[in-house]
Parts: sequence; C-alpha cells; structure tokens
Amino acid sequence: MSFKLSNLFKHPYYYVPPCPACKSPMTGRFVPSHSNEANAWIMRSAFKHGELVADVEDLAPSDDNLFCVSCGHTWTGHVAFKFITTAELEEERRKRDTKKMLKLLKQQEMESMSGDDKKTILSSIMVFKPPVI
Ligand SMILES: [Zn+2]
Repeated sequence: MSFKLSNLFKHPYYYVPPCPACKSPMTGRFVPSHSNEANAWIMRSAFKHGELVADVEDLAPSDDNLFCVSCGHTWTGHVAFKFITTAELEEERRKRDTKKMLKLLKQQEMESMSGDDKKTILSSIMVFKPPVI
C-alpha cells in the first residue's frame, strides 16, 4: 500500500451523483441567484473546487436541483456533503472537466463585458444622432 501524506487531509465536498439519464459524471447543482457578482464568485470557486454549479433566479423545494452538462437533463436528487481526499478531489475535478468550465466562464464574462461596451457605444451613437429636419 502506498502512503501519501496529502491523503490525510480531507476536503469538504458537495457530491452530485452521476446523471440518471445518460450516466455522465458531469453533473452539478443549481444555486439560487443573489446577485450576478456573488454568483460569478460562487461559480468560480466551485469550479476550482471540482464542483459544477449554475445559478437560477429562484429555487423552490419542488424544483429540480441537479443538472447534467452532457445531456441537459435536470432532476431532483440528494447532494451528499462529504469529506474527500486530495486524490479524490482531483478525480472529481477531472471527471467534471471543471478547468474547461472555468475557461468558459471567463470567456462569457469577457463577452458580456464587450457586449456592454457595444451597448454603450450604440447608445452614445443614438444620442448624438443629428436630428432629422
Ligand atoms: Zn445526462
């Protein structure tokens, strides 16, 4: 048996079971929206931690709380809170491809920023449009 010191340290982890529809491990949970900034922060830290989260405006107890990135299926399920080793955490990260999700999130943030810029430019053009005589 190999011994790894890092395996003595356990990380708290919200474990979402694989998708019941397509068996994909790329599953995550919905978190209710508080503010855009707070959610971007929650998503970023979750991705870094090997967890997938998506924000929703409202989450009633009867709503589906889990989703699958692979097939888009949503369902109501139990999220297990557990402590896992560094090796297990790495495995969850790899299975869910959260590095790619982080990249996508960054891209989206940049795109929405340039989108706002466009809007600002557009509205300034509209404001300064010479009046039609
Ligand atoms: Zn699925």
